[in-house]
Amino acid sequence: MTVTKQDLEAWVDADRDVLIRFVQDFVRCRTPNPPGDTLEAAQFVRDFLDSKGLPYEVVAPNAIMPNILSSFEGGGEGRHLALNGHMDVFPVEDESTWSQDPWGGALVDGKIYGRGSADMKCGTTASIFTYAYLHRIREQLKGRLTLVVVSDEETFGPWGARYLAEHRPEVFGDCCLNGEPSGVSTVRFGEKGPLWLEFLIRTPGAHGAYTHMSPSATVIASALISDLGKLTDTAVPDLGNLESAITSAASVIDGEYGAGAAGIVRKVTVNPGLVAGGVKVNMVAAECRVQVDIRVPNGLTAKDILPLVDEIVARHAGVTYKVILSEEPAWTSPDTEMIDHVRQNAKRLSGVDPAPIISLGATDARLWRYKGLPAIVYGPAPRGMGSVDEHVPVEEFIHVVKCHLLSAFDYLTK
Ligand SMILES: [Zn+2]
Repeated sequence: MTVTKQDLEAWVDADRDVLIRFVQDFVRCRTPNPPGDTLEAAQFVRDFLDSKGLPYEVVAPNAIMPNILSSFEGGGEGRHLALNGHMDVFPVEDESTWSQDPWGGALVDGKIYGRGSADMKCGTTASIFTYAYLHRIREQLKGRLTLVVVSDEETFGPWGARYLAEHRPEVFGDCCLNGEPSGVSTVRFGEKGPLWLEFLIRTPGAHGAYTHMSPSATVIASALISDLGKLTDTAVPDLGNLESAITSAASVIDGEYGAGAAGIVRKVTVNPGLVAGGVKVNMVAAECRVQVDIRVPNGLTAKDILPLVDEIVARHAGVTYKVILSEEPAWTSPDTEMIDHVRQNAKRLSGVDPAPIISLGATDARLWRYKGLPAIVYGPAPRGMGSVDEHVPVEEFIHVVKCHLLSAFDYLTK
């Protein structure tokens, strides 16, 4: 019997309680990164796959950060789709500021609470269940489906997706669907690139009353930070259909990520996230350390930004710097097929056609794009992500599961 999209939706509806329970239990597996230990969560995912009779492989270049790979062939020739999600989550700074236990997976007023609920255990659950549902009807599908559940995403994946990109490129397939938080009114086809720099300012230092004896490292840091802020004026090349997609989605971007978000998608941003200098109020600071998080828009690369940083540094005595992280921005054409599937299915399910946009933050989807493969992100809104009371409304979660399932089905039946 041929299974239809209506049948797939009915399967999800019938499993509603199972899905909710799965996310709650997934959240209860504590996976803050750092330290990035995902053993308990990985065992939880493995138990689920075992219960469905789905074979998998564990790839663990770091023993506490396993990655789970599972793959099957459809009944006919076709393309290879990868479903990717991560198990690690942000740490919790102060549990007392939450209204719910961040590791409790509480279901309150139709919302699932907990660190990692939005980023991205709901999305990873959508991948896992999509994989299991489509395995049931594999004879009806064309091509291949691979589940790529990873660790170590929050630190850019040296033991997770980045390791797999180098050592297991075959699991990347021809296209990636990922459930990182995007908000259901947007679908992401690209992202900006983080460029993190650490500046060190050193001067002789002096007694605080003897300011004639030495320049102050903290005063230099202040002037340096002010100069670095001018990088936000860097001209960004026009990228054709990327530009038009962002322009037409401006109000949606502001609505989803806060007023002003659309204005920085296509700009360099500069955040001096850490400034540490001086010892005492009555001493001229001899040392100051400044870490700056620059986000590079599509069309520019770190190679465009670093010479500008060199020029700024040359204007300030006693300053040295090093790059502590550089991940280039990447994007897939907003006209790519998977975007169409996600938009049409989202509209079919909720009536809302998600606007294709560029993400401000970075995800593992970039690793597919670096290989020239389309990678599309569609997941719940980032409510409380990286802060307090992170949660996902159940209806939004179920919508994301259905949208992933139907979109993967469309891709593998075309
Ligand atoms: Zn994430």
